Amino acid sequence: MVRYISTRGEAPVLSFDEVVLTGLARDGGLYVPETWPQFSQDEIRSLASMNYADAAAFLLYPFIGDAISKSDFTAMTTKAYASFSHQAVVPLSQLGPNEFLMELYHGPTLAFKDVALQLLGLLYDHLLGSRGKRVTIVGATSGDTGSAAIDACRGRDAVDIFILHPAGRVSEVQRRQMTTVLDSNVHNIAVEGDFDDCQAMVKAMFNDLAFRDELAVSAVNSINWARVMAQIVYYFTVGVSLGSPDRAVSFSVPSGNFGDVYAGYAASKMGLPVEQLIVATNRNDILSRFFNSGEYRKSGVDPTISPSMDIQVSSNFERFLFDLHGRDGVAVSDLMSKLDTDGGFSVNMSLLNEGIFSAGSSSEDETLQTIQHTLQDSLKLVDPHTAVGLKVGAECRNHSDAPLVTLSTAHPAKFPDAVEKATGVHPELPGHLSDLFTREERLVQLPNDLSTVKSYIRERARILQAI
Ligand SMILES: *Cc1c(COP(=O)(O)O)cnc(C)c1O
Repeated sequence: MVRYISTRGEAPVLSFDEVVLTGLARDGGLYVPETWPQFSQDEIRSLASMNYADAAAFLLYPFIGDAISKSDFTAMTTKAYASFSHQAVVPLSQLGPNEFLMELYHGPTLAFKDVALQLLGLLYDHLLGSRGKRVTIVGATSGDTGSAAIDACRGRDAVDIFILHPAGRVSEVQRRQMTTVLDSNVHNIAVEGDFDDCQAMVKAMFNDLAFRDELAVSAVNSINWARVMAQIVYYFTVGVSLGSPDRAVSFSVPSGNFGDVYAGYAASKMGLPVEQLIVATNRNDILSRFFNSGEYRKSGVDPTISPSMDIQVSSNFERFLFDLHGRDGVAVSDLMSKLDTDGGFSVNMSLLNEGIFSAGSSSEDETLQTIQHTLQDSLKLVDPHTAVGLKVGAECRNHSDAPLVTLSTAHPAKFPDAVEKATGVHPELPGHLSDLFTREERLVQLPNDLSTVKSYIRERARILQAI
């Protein structure tokens, strides 16, 4: 059974159920599995005959241990992925010779985050319902996490959910997908600041241990281990459909918080042969600069047409740093305090050169051109995040014959303005969202001030009212 340790080495070792309900470790670190479950070549081959939900149950159950029975967990993956509109859940389409698109946007809110959050919503219900407990979820979103988390948690009695988004900096579709959910356990807060301000506020609430304990605060951001865990599955299913384990596959991943691409790294640690993991960023390129220079240094955030990747500091990156430093929690703590005090740090490039990562970035113009080319050359309309992945993937791909799979992280209709600007085509929302623009919205706008936001949450969390 896998246990979970903190990247800073000081917090207690936890079981799966504790990790899901906790989110951030009490020493400020992130939880990672103590060991990676291993899958043999034959086990990986056997995925070819499973549907997506069964593959998920097979691959993820070793992370869960006794917290949930295997049959309950299989029922949960089945239910979670029944909410997807495509029977394959995560289908693969072909763009060119040996070039593929992994379509991660067929969930209820049209972004890849549904893959993890539809499962996480059910995990909360199961783990809390059986104990008669409640949690208060607090999360920051640059657009897609918020709507996916809200959809997964709406109407659940065990959960109150508070989502902070940067006011005016998410697309109208993204905002409406959050604010038109009127269930009484859903609270949307527009913060007068940028995404990093929202994320810093959420981190501060987690680091206030009294607040955290009193409200039983839990995280749906990708600092929650269950998020990363659920994302491991599609690397395997897609790899297998392209010939793994007998053939290595490369993945290009549009990246912001480093959660999605870290799941690909986890898949490689668990036995999937991965030729390259390409970290694709927009002009907010801290990750790309890091993989090319060894220096991790903050700079300001510039709004782009791929807003879900507009971040300054990638929260999951710490999980990777931990492995890069031989799982030395003290070394990670030192680097993270340097990041706070000096604005950055460097690691030895020789550590990075041995790895499977490469990285690059895409300018706004390059992203628009890629959307246009992809429609012209492959008859496929892609969203701006996906386009960043395609552009950087083409640039960073090595000359092996490994297939290149770009992760298509959002439906083009989620970002209609950029897509229309690039192609002249206005992408239509799927039927279940076609009346989005006429639905009633509910949200509150608050200043970028921690204590104001905290009291707002405190006044509304049902866990306090029940006492
Ligand atoms: C969240 C998101 C990303 C970035 O994923 P990370 O796990 O934060 O790196 C990319 N594209 C879309 C559409 C997203 O919603």
